[in-house]
Amino acid sequence: MSAAASDYRLDGIYKQRQDDFFMQRVKLPAGVISAGQARVIASVSTRFGQGSIHLTSRGSIEIHWLKEDDLPQIKRELAKAGLTSRGACGGAVRGITCGSQSAQGFPALESLARRLHRHFTGNPRFERLPKKFKIGIEADVVGGKHLIQDVGLVLAAFEDGQAFYDVWIAGGLGREPRPGFLLIERVAEKRIIPVIEAVVAVYATHAPPPKRLKFLAAEFGETKLRLLIEAETAFSEDISAASGLPENIVTEANGRQRLELPVFAGKLTAAQLELIAETAERVADGVIMITVNQDIALLLSAGVDATVELLLLQQTTGVALAEPAPVLRVCPGSHECRMGLAATRDLAGEILDHFSQKGRALSWAVSGCNNSCTQPQLADVGIVATRLSAESDGQKTTRFDVYRRNGAGLGEKVNEGLTRQELVDVVHEIG
Ligand code: SF4
Repeated sequence: MSAAASDYRLDGIYKQRQDDFFMQRVKLPAGVISAGQARVIASVSTRFGQGSIHLTSRGSIEIHWLKEDDLPQIKRELAKAGLTSRGACGGAVRGITCGSQSAQGFPALESLARRLHRHFTGNPRFERLPKKFKIGIEADVVGGKHLIQDVGLVLAAFEDGQAFYDVWIAGGLGREPRPGFLLIERVAEKRIIPVIEAVVAVYATHAPPPKRLKFLAAEFGETKLRLLIEAETAFSEDISAASGLPENIVTEANGRQRLELPVFAGKLTAAQLELIAETAERVADGVIMITVNQDIALLLSAGVDATVELLLLQQTTGVALAEPAPVLRVCPGSHECRMGLAATRDLAGEILDHFSQKGRALSWAVSGCNNSCTQPQLADVGIVATRLSAESDGQKTTRFDVYRRNGAGLGEKVNEGLTRQELVDVVHEIG
């Protein structure tokens, strides 16, 4: 295979930091995957990689340590299981995320996520974008996830069998974090796709690569951006829902228990994923959820005890974090990512060792560069490796910024340019 690595992006593939190795990201609408599909991912990882799997903070799965020559076969193996990576990287509509898997009404959100995934994935109209385009669906505004999407949908009402969503747009993190703004309230579900199409059309027309939609919000202002979107033909379209059954595979909890398996830094082995799939088939209707905190969740069958199954899973898989396990999102950093400025898992392991009870009660996020993939501005404490600093002895050391979130918006930077030791001291003070 001779195509440049950048050509693989639309297939969800990035080059790893290590020469000759690639990462394959798999899109999972609302983070939901069947046990059978999880087995296929485990098998691909074992056969073509090094059995190394990463759960992302958008509910996707990444398979690391793949060889270029194997990429077409891997795509076929995933396709056989109904999995796609199209648009998981590059200038396309990315995986549809949902941080409300445990909320009442999640099946309706998952159903919409699958519809949007199907509509926007692989459509050339939505694959020549200046940069990534992220869509998220939430049951409420509590976690602030709607603020960091290009389009954030928040369930506003459910009336007469129809869902209505508030549509937030133009949010994003990265080097210049910007919260999204409310474009339109209470949009009927049948109008969601046309409204998103209008937003994408304005983005594709006006934003220079590699800018995100938030750039237009900053350049034009919210009023002009809103007028441009409203002027698009698609914006006023009303596409009545065709008849048919809902598309969710997770059903309403109705009192069933939810098991949440904390996974340190979202890192699993293929063997561990196999065991989780086995458990899901036995006690959770064969369905697995990847949470936005990079953990695994199972909605257990009626009468199954979550405490017993969690203990069993922890024993069989060896995935065992000290209880209570904190919310701790960690990106691959310089372990595998080309952009990484810090060995994020090592750093997270070090700070985790020192957490007090207070620290464990907070949510934490560690990002290996300014791209902020783990959403540090939405954690109680966010840590970002921002630059390499040349020291007097000629060595380069990583510097870190720290964010704290107290209100409903994005977290604010409270420390800048910390050395690793200074960072550890700050972490000790916090928790
Ligand atoms: S935050 Fe930076 S280092 Fe971490 S995964 Fe994203 S791009 Fe890579």
